[in-house]
Amino acid sequence: MRIVEIEKVSFEEGYEKSLRPQNLDEYIGQEQIKKNLKVFIEAAKKRGESLDHMLFFGPPGLGKTTLANIIASEMNANLKTIAAPMLEKSGDLAAILTNLEEGDILFIDEIHRLKASIEEVLYSAMEDFRLDIVIGSGPAAQTIKIDVAKFTLIGATTRAGMLSNPLRDRFGMSFRLNFYNVEELALIIKLASKKLGFTIEDDAANEIAMRSRGTPRIALRLLKRVRDFAEVEGKKTIDKKIAKYALDELGINEHGFDELDIRFLTLLADAKKPLGLSTIAAALSEDEDTIEEVIEPFLIANGYIEKTPKGRIATRKTYEILRFTPSTLF
Ligand code: ADP
Repeated sequence: MRIVEIEKVSFEEGYEKSLRPQNLDEYIGQEQIKKNLKVFIEAAKKRGESLDHMLFFGPPGLGKTTLANIIASEMNANLKTIAAPMLEKSGDLAAILTNLEEGDILFIDEIHRLKASIEEVLYSAMEDFRLDIVIGSGPAAQTIKIDVAKFTLIGATTRAGMLSNPLRDRFGMSFRLNFYNVEELALIIKLASKKLGFTIEDDAANEIAMRSRGTPRIALRLLKRVRDFAEVEGKKTIDKKIAKYALDELGINEHGFDELDIRFLTLLADAKKPLGLSTIAAALSEDEDTIEEVIEPFLIANGYIEKTPKGRIATRKTYEILRFTPSTLF
């Protein structure tokens, strides 16, 4: 498995869950979002109402699910979680909605993947807390209205651009999660180490943070791997030397690039002209979604590549780095 693979993998889930921050104060970074959420949560609590529906968007592993969990606990609300691709028929969603109780929070992950027919069920549920179910077809068709308890929908997506307008318009609030800086990631790593009961030196935490592609999930996974190396070496404390050694062994360089990033950047740099998504996907033997959702956002946010109308290009920064990191390295 690609070490910076961000897809959730079940055996990693328990580890991640155990490290999940429990409240907004433990949630590192994303200061603007936290500030806003604190206000909205306090206001909703004072009024004794549920929160407005909200949408979180941003690349995988940045803390969208974690925020949904924290909001539910701060609101003392039940959280029901579903991943959009799991819903096959509109009846599946209708069943979930009609089982909600007042104040419940429904978290739909990957909400951009909802089928259109299922998405439509959400519109009236979100707006009027009512389901319009059509029975029969043609002139004999009848619409039955079913009330839904006042709930809050939290949607998460890696692709805000793929959300339909009617759905996007129904969210009262929408928040974009940003990549984390090295200091924030180092703090997440140190807190996680503490929870797991081992010590890590500051510069070792920094070393891991620098190579985590701005992403807490990657930082935590790398921490786990580094800890394995330290254990095998019989070290009680993780220092910079063992962190560096482990990360080098794992093929993660100091920019946080892994082998696939390097292949991607080398491809663009060698092409010396803009390349389209399908060409890149074919050359790297990766699917287009992975390239757009997982690989590119970090490279774009950090100025390694640019998207132009003609295709993707490598930036000067990338050319400079690749001179020191020839493709033959991998
Ligand atoms: P997403 O839903 O955006 O894919 P998650 O919420 O599942 O990401 O986050 C992945 C893991 O990273 C979480 O289990 C949590 O342990 C950690 N994490 C994410 N954001 C933060 C944060 N701001 N502070 C501390 N840990 C975080």
